[in-house]
Amino acid sequence: MITRRDLLKSIPIAAAAATLPRISRAATQKPVVVSTWNFGMDANREAWKILSANGRSFDAVEAGARVPEADPNNHSVGMGGYPDRDGKVTLDACIMDEIGNCGSVADLEHIVHAISVARKVMEKSPHVMLVGPGALDFAIAQGFPKENLLTEDSRKAWGKWKADNHYTPKEYHDTIGILALDSVGNLSGACTTSGLAWKYHGRVGDSPIIGAGLFVDNEVGGACSTGKGEAVIKIAGSHTVVEAMRRGASPQDACEEAVRRIAKKQSDYREFQVAFLALNKNGESGAFAIAKGFQYALTTSAGSKLVDGVSLL
Ligand code: ASP
Repeated sequence: MITRRDLLKSIPIAAAAATLPRISRAATQKPVVVSTWNFGMDANREAWKILSANGRSFDAVEAGARVPEADPNNHSVGMGGYPDRDGKVTLDACIMDEIGNCGSVADLEHIVHAISVARKVMEKSPHVMLVGPGALDFAIAQGFPKENLLTEDSRKAWGKWKADNHYTPKEYHDTIGILALDSVGNLSGACTTSGLAWKYHGRVGDSPIIGAGLFVDNEVGGACSTGKGEAVIKIAGSHTVVEAMRRGASPQDACEEAVRRIAKKQSDYREFQVAFLALNKNGESGAFAIAKGFQYALTTSAGSKLVDGVSLL
């Protein structure tokens, strides 16, 4: 077996520094689960049942993500999500495990648990991503029930928006991104959303895009995002955060680096929100947002709490 020492001897020092992840030597805290926004508390509770029984982080993040998906009062995830401007609820989701396997669905209609369809894409198809009617056909073939996701509340809100004739998409910041480190030290992540309310039909955000809305590298850490997906896609946001952690940045500093890149390259950054959340291989977490108000839920063996994300503005 080639050890880290052998590897270091065989390559010049500068090259080694660029190749090997530089994770701090702080004692590892595990298991741990983090997820976006205050409703992440409920998602973490479900995930923790699996993590505290020494279950796999991959199962934990899926179980956590299913909680807001099933909640009709959460208007940007799953059932009850606000529709696009044509009145259709379309979901985006992706999931990634500890060995880099991933699955994703985008523009998926009529299925509540988009995250579980994403998992099936990963496990039961030769592909990473299925979209639109193809994703729906696949989900039905896998036994997922077809349902109406447009609740009366969401239909009314859509009607009001149409009457006001705004015709502009709106951020609701309800995407759930969830990252977990299990008791054997493996990392996984999941992300699921109905995306921006009143979006163009067919619009896909960052959330189902591996490297944008979610990225996990089990050697380093994981990251996920919420907010204006277009801004996140433009900088491959979650991948950017993980690569910063690979170079030795703390989770919070890594999230800040990605937010500052958006601010540098997108001159209208004051007009929208983006937040990144990260968890590293040591179980350390951090977040950074453009605007005030972002919170994430953190659960460890010491309990659960809501943490305020630091922000640029
Ligand atoms: N990131 C999501 C999207 O752009 C929306 C959100 O998190 O509010 O689809």
